[in-house]
Amino acid sequence: MLNKVAKILFNIILTSVLLGAFFWFIKGEELQKEYSTFRKNSAPILLYHAVGEPVEIEWPPSLIMSAALFESHLQYLTQEGYTVVSVEKLTELLSEGASLNKVVAMSFDDGYRNNYTDVLPLLNKYNAKASFYIVNRDIGKTIYMDKEMLLNLLNCGMEIGSHTINHAPLALIDPKYLPWETGSAKKFLEEILEGYQLQGMAYPNGGYNAKVLEAVKQYGFTYGLTGKVGVNTSQNFGVAPYEMYRISVVDDGNGIEGLRHRMDRAYLWGFLQTKGIDLNIIRDWLMQ
Ligand SMILES: [Zn+2]
Repeated sequence: MLNKVAKILFNIILTSVLLGAFFWFIKGEELQKEYSTFRKNSAPILLYHAVGEPVEIEWPPSLIMSAALFESHLQYLTQEGYTVVSVEKLTELLSEGASLNKVVAMSFDDGYRNNYTDVLPLLNKYNAKASFYIVNRDIGKTIYMDKEMLLNLLNCGMEIGSHTINHAPLALIDPKYLPWETGSAKKFLEEILEGYQLQGMAYPNGGYNAKVLEAVKQYGFTYGLTGKVGVNTSQNFGVAPYEMYRISVVDDGNGIEGLRHRMDRAYLWGFLQTKGIDLNIIRDWLMQ
């Protein structure tokens, strides 16, 4: 426990020092310009879980967000002029090298029923699109969406992707189960969704390795979502379409500021990556 607290404290101090150093550094006008161009050519993917009615899950409560807070996020993004797209749409923009100025993608993991009852009406209200990553074994269980709900998501122009059959941490399981948790997960979900073609896989807990990348490619996925913090550009997508960046959005008690801070952090980490500095190395170490 103490170790965990120390790690969190260390993380906070380190992030603050780096942010401070960075903003001191970007006082240089040229670098500021470069950073602003970078932001126009990159897009964050926001990651949500449960939104709305509390669900009984053994998770930090921060991962469950009220519908009111989620709506304030949509309001904020709309006011700021963002277009909210599905990840599939974002991958199209990335492949075309299209402008990503004020583009943000939204994603929901695990397939909670409240994603249908609470999230979908709000997405429709704000003309926003999103992607939902589904765990096969949970479809239709009490707190999860059923087949009809998933089909309705598709009818509303949303995207559905895979989150494996058993929410398997792909980098940690015996590789002999990879075809099952990736290839079969895709095939079974496509059957349930009456022939809809899945494009994306969101790796449970964000973890992956070379064997996982090989499997998702082999079984016909066109992109993969990691837990690494950063933003997506035509350059990094072109090199690693199965290692896209996401930013987890939680209820940290700071309301809309919390979202703004997380988005800024994603852009900043992405910009530093273009300079050869990947803070995910520290993040991975802290999460060990
Ligand atoms: Zn998950």
